[in-house]
Amino acid sequence: MENQKKDIRKLSLVELEEFFVAQGEKKFRAKQVYEWLWNKSLKNFDDMSNISLSTREMLKTHFAINHIHVDLMQHSSDGTIKNAVKLFDSKIVESVLIPTTKRITACVSSQVGCSLDCNFCATARLKRMRNLNPDEIYDQVVAIKDEAETYFQRPLTNIVFMGMGEPLLNYANVIEAIDKITSPEGLGMAPRRITVSTVGVTKMIRKMADDEVKFNLAVSLHSAINETRSRLMPINDSNPVEELGESLKYWYQKTKKKVTYEYVIWDGINDDERHARALAKFCKIIPSKVNIIQYNPIDEGEFRQAKQEAVDMYVRILESQGIIAKVRKSRGQDIDAACGQLANKNEVSTLVSE
Ligand code: SAH
Repeated sequence: MENQKKDIRKLSLVELEEFFVAQGEKKFRAKQVYEWLWNKSLKNFDDMSNISLSTREMLKTHFAINHIHVDLMQHSSDGTIKNAVKLFDSKIVESVLIPTTKRITACVSSQVGCSLDCNFCATARLKRMRNLNPDEIYDQVVAIKDEAETYFQRPLTNIVFMGMGEPLLNYANVIEAIDKITSPEGLGMAPRRITVSTVGVTKMIRKMADDEVKFNLAVSLHSAINETRSRLMPINDSNPVEELGESLKYWYQKTKKKVTYEYVIWDGINDDERHARALAKFCKIIPSKVNIIQYNPIDEGEFRQAKQEAVDMYVRILESQGIIAKVRKSRGQDIDAACGQLANKNEVSTLVSE
């Protein structure tokens, strides 16, 4: 089986060069192959037109190219596209193309399933099965980039790590994928067009600060009051609001980058003034802005989107204190592509019964 051979894209450029030299091949050929693999995203050795037949055959005996495969593409009435992506081991993740007048954004997954138990999120219903490899993250971006060009005749402009999984719990692979996405041998995208969203793993926020990463950070806050946040997101028990604030201070000291808070307002849970004022206070810790996200129902459960008056009250309180707050419309709801709805619906029974 092809996937039992070593995946050539696990090799760095230096490792590939060493391999070529050991095989008695010219070192510069390795760079050519590397560019075919990453910049051109080729799926077959035979398409590497400037590589000799004998070298291609040699590569085939040693390596496989474990490319992802878009198994199912769904188009929403609002233009959003959702890809169900099959990995080399037949596991499935989802990624989403979100078009707006100014941007085309790719929302990509970082894990198969998720280990966090946020009570309002469909992905949480799937247990975490494994981390995605850097190439699997990269390939999701390439698939969406191609779809942007095919269906919208526009380039991909932004990438958000807001699909399935917690990117900071697959940190090394996410960083490696971003390195490839931003490097000239890869897609050459600017890091400031990339946003990584976290549930708020404070230790990893500090690590990112130490690494002085250049991409943007978003934090799924949903409440700045511990009791409520713990009820919504059990991770808050071990990473409480105060500690989150401290880690963000550290982030800002090191990177000088402001942070975005993602915030859903639910009926009867955090739709009162006390919660709005707590959020406003939290926003003062470091320069920040708030994205108020509409709740996307995932089942008949306990969560309901708050009334418009509650959303207006939040915006009024935040703006009166000079905090930028944007109310985000939901996209792709009709195909279960909106925030928190990614759960391989077509596959859900097979996934959870495995
Ligand atoms: N694990 C990361 C990446 C997921 S991002 C994180 O938690 O940030 C997905 C975003 O959608 C998060 O802000 C999440 O809290 C939010 N979300 C989850 N379920 C949702 C739902 N049903 N409706 C609206 N937003 C939801």
